[in-house]
Amino acid sequence: AERAMAEAKRLGPGSVCIFTPDAQPGYGNALRLENALRHAVRRRELYLDYQPCLDTSARRVTGTEALVRWRHPTFGLMPPDAFIPLADETGLIVDLGRWVLGEACRQNHLWHRAGMAGFTVAVNVSAAQFRRADFADQVAAVIAESAMDPTTLELEITETVVMQDAESNIRTLRKLKNMGVRIAIDDFGTGYSSLSYLKRLPIDILKIDRSFVQNLATDGDNQAIVRLIVALAKSLKLTLIAEGVEESEQLEFLRALGCDRAQGFHISRPVVPGAIAALYGCAALPIESV
Ligand code: C2E
Ligand code: MG
Ligand code: MG
Repeated sequence: AERAMAEAKRLGPGSVCIFTPDAQPGYGNALRLENALRHAVRRRELYLDYQPCLDTSARRVTGTEALVRWRHPTFGLMPPDAFIPLADETGLIVDLGRWVLGEACRQNHLWHRAGMAGFTVAVNVSAAQFRRADFADQVAAVIAESAMDPTTLELEITETVVMQDAESNIRTLRKLKNMGVRIAIDDFGTGYSSLSYLKRLPIDILKIDRSFVQNLATDGDNQAIVRLIVALAKSLKLTLIAEGVEESEQLEFLRALGCDRAQGFHISRPVVPGAIAALYGCAALPIESV
């Protein structure tokens, strides 16, 4: 009905439209995907890969980011970009996000028990998840269930989501911070940021978007932008993480500037949880061979 109304509005005053699924290319697919996603958590079709995060000065892997994947029996393996927006629009993200958070916390607790004390896990939070009034309570419940140390949990929220309705977000962020959870702004530099809010928001980490890290060794504009973000993070006393580091030159450049942490294919692609312990053991590797 909503689609018919939108089409009628587009055609102009006095128009009447009737929706038929066949007339909408792609609609059947979206509906099939939505129905399949509805059962994905229960049917255990989702799993998490973990991408290691390198402490650039200690030259050690000190944490990971959890990245969700969906292996559907007929659609095959799907990256998050193929279904997270749909999950967000349809409200399915609530169950899905809770599962991701629970699974990542459970896994991190296991890593701690295996001797990886202080190892951090970052979990991506979508717009619809973050805007729910009970989001902080949900996080508190998951932390309690998993028995994980909350100071090793980092929640990643994109810049655009955090900056919209910043006043009410400050309340949610404070609640999370009081639990000991750390907050990261993901894809920093791509949305619109109010610098005055950036100063007031109780956040801990900025993640420089991959687009600024690309061609960093040769692109003077990106070098200037990254220098600026490093200076900003330092003066606001925020931890800085660079995303999408694919070459050793980029890593060296970031390290020389004092960027605290780095993530990217040069360090490691996202891997299954079983592969993380071996990477954690890679302490004090010379930077060329990381
Ligand atoms: P993100 O949080 O910015 O995650 C980084 C993405 O960049 C990941 O893609 C990762 O595989 C990819 N990446 C990492 N290093 C490199 C590199 O060196 N080069 C290149 N080209 N790419 C790199 P992925 O796993 O496909 O995730 C895409 C986005 O989907 C994530 O962006 C995040 O916004 C979202 N996402 C992933 N998992 C979840 C989740 O559990 N919940 C929610 N709400 N969103 C998620
Ligand atoms: Mg992220
Ligand atoms: Mg990102």
